[in-house]
Amino acid sequence: MQLEILPEGGDRISMSDCLFCKIVTKSIPSKIVYEDETLIAIEDINPSAPVHVLLIPKKHIASLHDTSDADKSLLGHIQLVAAQIAREQNIAVDGYRLINNCGTMGGQEVMHLHYHLLGGREMLWPPG
Ligand code: AMP
Ligand code: ZN
Repeated sequence: MQLEILPEGGDRISMSDCLFCKIVTKSIPSKIVYEDETLIAIEDINPSAPVHVLLIPKKHIASLHDTSDADKSLLGHIQLVAAQIAREQNIAVDGYRLINNCGTMGGQEVMHLHYHLLGGREMLWPPG
């Protein structure tokens, strides 16, 4: 039976239709920079900075707004891995940005939770 998730306020989507679930299962290729049992980090296909890595939990969660107490350790783990990748990609000393776009007005296009790690250039504030 096909598992389905109903995101808050959103349409019914199936994990077999989710781009990042396909990247997690490697049915769509990606450039993997880090992987463990709970998350994968890949190079963004359309980078917005010299370093642009996406940190994607393996479990399908539509957005940050769909997380709960049960995801506390996963969310903390993502930030620690982001800092580790920043060191490995040599952007830690100069500084970098870790972003989550949540929902339509937040600029989220792929409805599977992910964080953007951006570095290698000066970041602007406020973001567009
Ligand atoms: P967001 O707007 O926060 O949902 O970000 C989605 C990100 O996924 C964008 O930065 C896209 O460039 C990136 N993206 C879309 N398709 C792929 C893909 N096949 N491989 C890697 N990154 C992708
Ligand atoms: Zn997914």
